[in-house]
Order: sequence, then structure tokens, then C-alpha cells
Amino acid sequence: MTRKTDMNQEYDVIIAGAGPVGCLMAERFAADLNWKVLLIDKRNHVAGNCFDTDHESGLMIHRYGPHYFRSNNKALIEYLSQFTDWIPGNYIVKSSTNGELYPFPINLLTLGQFFKIADLDAESAQKLLEEKREKIDQPANSEEFVLSRVGKEMYEAFYLGYTLKQWSIHPKDLAPSVCGRIPVRLNKDERYVDHEYQLTPAKGFTAMFQKMVEHPNIDLQLETDYDAVKNKIKATKATIYTGPIDEYFDCQLGKLPWRSLEFDFVEKNVAFEQPCVQINYPNDHDYTRTVEIKHVTGQVHPKTVISYEYPKAEGDPYYPIPMEKNQQLYLQYKKLADQETADHNVYFCGRLAEYKYYNTDEVLELALKTFEKIKTQHGH
Ligand SMILES: Cc1cc2nc3c(=O)[nH]c(=O)nc-3n(C[C@H](O)[C@H](O)[C@H](O)COP(=O)(O)OP(=O)(O)OC[C@H]3O[C@@H](n4cnc5c(N)ncnc54)[C@H](O)[C@@H]3O)c2cc1C
Repeated sequence: MTRKTDMNQEYDVIIAGAGPVGCLMAERFAADLNWKVLLIDKRNHVAGNCFDTDHESGLMIHRYGPHYFRSNNKALIEYLSQFTDWIPGNYIVKSSTNGELYPFPINLLTLGQFFKIADLDAESAQKLLEEKREKIDQPANSEEFVLSRVGKEMYEAFYLGYTLKQWSIHPKDLAPSVCGRIPVRLNKDERYVDHEYQLTPAKGFTAMFQKMVEHPNIDLQLETDYDAVKNKIKATKATIYTGPIDEYFDCQLGKLPWRSLEFDFVEKNVAFEQPCVQINYPNDHDYTRTVEIKHVTGQVHPKTVISYEYPKAEGDPYYPIPMEKNQQLYLQYKKLADQETADHNVYFCGRLAEYKYYNTDEVLELALKTFEKIKTQHGH
């Protein structure tokens, strides 16, 4: 589907990065504004980190980590439904600690199992947590946040080891929000997230994003770095840059640090190896979690594939490291980016360009907003 790009051709917009942000914006410019779009990516596929592909066993894998799509935004789901059918998102996660598997995030079943209390109800659980939690009114870091919510025993069983492995930083040195994103539920809801729509594209994310960019106004050029086109091809109206913000400016203020990951995909000769899609290992092994995405894709196959996920200091950028000094460095780059927008209509959008962790639904909403802004300014 990649078309050869005519280097002499003029485009209304060049989009660097064919991840969720780049694909959605390409579709909007092409279909809504009838703009001629050049969409490039340095990788050999669309979908960015949502990329899913066939493993040699024929089973689908999520190459850059499992993606559990969810949203509360009906309009977004309707928009995406033009490009995909959906299957229900079967997102169940358990945590393996003290030799047992516990529902995670923590819910009534987790509390009952952990403290060995049969038929724990919401009221008794509330009292139990009141006894266990440490009285810290304004938690200053992730450790204090979790202690103030569930107390020391659960902090040590479920959070401390996982956070250390994930970040190689003690929870004491991480902002409260890092562990604060995980809910504690006083019901028996075992789903990983609370969102109204928990859905997976029926044929995968890659198929959905590929369909999104199949438009006669879009030229897609893969295995092409923005550096290779930026001085050669002209964008008459705007440029969208979704790559790392520091790299756009040749890292002139220093490199923004990222946490990286490595995935080991291992084929197993059984139909299912795990009881659910994800098992966290806070206190054992070098990997943080094992993922059997077959629970989500719903594929029928005699074998299965388990992905073992290892956090790394070096490698591709996965998670911005949530520390104040990194945010300050990002803000300095943002000043340069704002100037670039004002001077040359280059818009910086997405997780790499904004040095921020976004879920896919959030980043798609952001891309739509950025599109609307550009439409208002240049859409004629
Ligand atoms: C481990 C992990 C798990 C996740 N799990 C979930 C989940 O369960 N649910 C969920 O909703 N979200 C999840 N996310 C978030 C999701 O991956 C992001 O929201 C989404 O990928 C962001 O889209 P994007 O377009 O901003 O960036 P990306 O997906 O990173 O796409 C950016 C693209 O730009 C390309 N690019 C970069 N630089 C250049 C350049 N110089 N020239 C050309 N191309 C370039 C890259 O190759 C990439 O394809 C997860 C993220 C991670 C890291």
C-alpha cells in the first residue's frame, strides 16, 4: 500500500510518524479538508506502538507491549468504527505475590484473599482499609500515596517491587500520580479499567490504522525518517511532527530520558497458559509481567504465545521518566516548539512530541483537537 513519493511534489501537509496521531490526522486532513498529505514513518509499518502483527505461530502479538483499548468517548468510538469492527476487551489482570494469584487492581476479592477474610463486604473493607492505611494527608510521593491508601502490607506485596523493577527508581522518588493511576475498588469488578467502552479492533490495531490511511489524498512512505524529507519536500500549509521533541531540535538542550522495554515472545504448546491476559510479578523474576494476548484477540489456536516484559534503561523510548527535572527540560523544548509553530506552522503532537504518557484514546482525542485547531487557522 506504500506509494512512491514524488520528491518534487508539493503537499499541503507533511506528517512525521504514522502512529495513532499521524494516521488520524492524515485521515482528517485528506477526508475533511481534501488536503494532499504525505505521511511518513521511519519504521516499516503504520500504527506506531499500537502495532500488532503475526507471530511465526500464526498468533497475533502486540510487538511493543499489550494495548488494551478503552474510552469513555462515544463520538471517538463512532469515528473509529468507520475503520474497524470491534470485539469486547477482555482485560483481566492478576498479580502474583506470596505464591498466590490476586485480582489486580485491588478489589474486595483481593482484600478478602490477602487478609484471609471470607465474604468481605464494602463496609467492612472500608473499615479494614481505615485500620491499615497510614494517616498521610498530602502524600508527597508514590510511596506515601500508596501507604495512605492501602497500608504497608499491601504496598510491599503489590506495589514496591513492581515500581522498582518498572522504573529502577524507588517509589519515594516518584510523583504520587505514578502509582495513583491504579484504582482500589470496593466491589468485585475484576476488569482492569473502569471505562464505558472496553473494545479491541476485531482484526487488530494495524488493520484499523491501515484502513484509516487508505485514501487517495494520502501518500504513505514507510522506512523514511523525517530528517530525510524535511529539506526536500515542501508542505504548503502545515507540518505535524509526532517524533521525539528533543530529536527535532538535535538534542541541543540535552537528551530527554525515557524508560525502555524488551519483549521476549515465547511460543507454548498449550491452548492457554494463563487464566487471564496479564499477570504481574512484583516480587519475583526480572520481568514485570507476562502477557497472553490471545485472551483479548479471541483467536482459536492449539498453541499460545506468552510475552515476557523486561524494563531497560537503554533502547527505544517507551515511558517518559516522571521526575521534575525531566519535565523542566521538556518545558524548555516546548518553548522552542511553540516558536516553531508560530514561525513555520510545525505542530508537535503525541506521546513522543509532548514527552507524556497518553493512553491511545487520549492521544486520539488530542490529535482530533489539534486537527480542529489547524482547520480553524488554515482550513481554507
Ligand atoms: C508499553 C506500553 C503499553 C501501552 N498500553 C496501552 C494500553 O493498554 N492502552 C492504551 O490505550 N494505550 C497504551 N499505550 C499507549 C499507546 O501506545 C500510545 O498512546 C500511542 O501509541 C501514542 O500514539 P502516538 O502516535 O503519539 O505515538 P507512537 O505510537 O509512538 O507513534 C509515533 C510514530 O512516529 C514514528 N517516528 C518517530 N520519530 C520519527 C521520525 N524522526 N521520522 C519518522 N517517523 C518517526 C515512530 O516510528 C512511530 O511509529 C501503551 C504504551 C506503552 C509504551
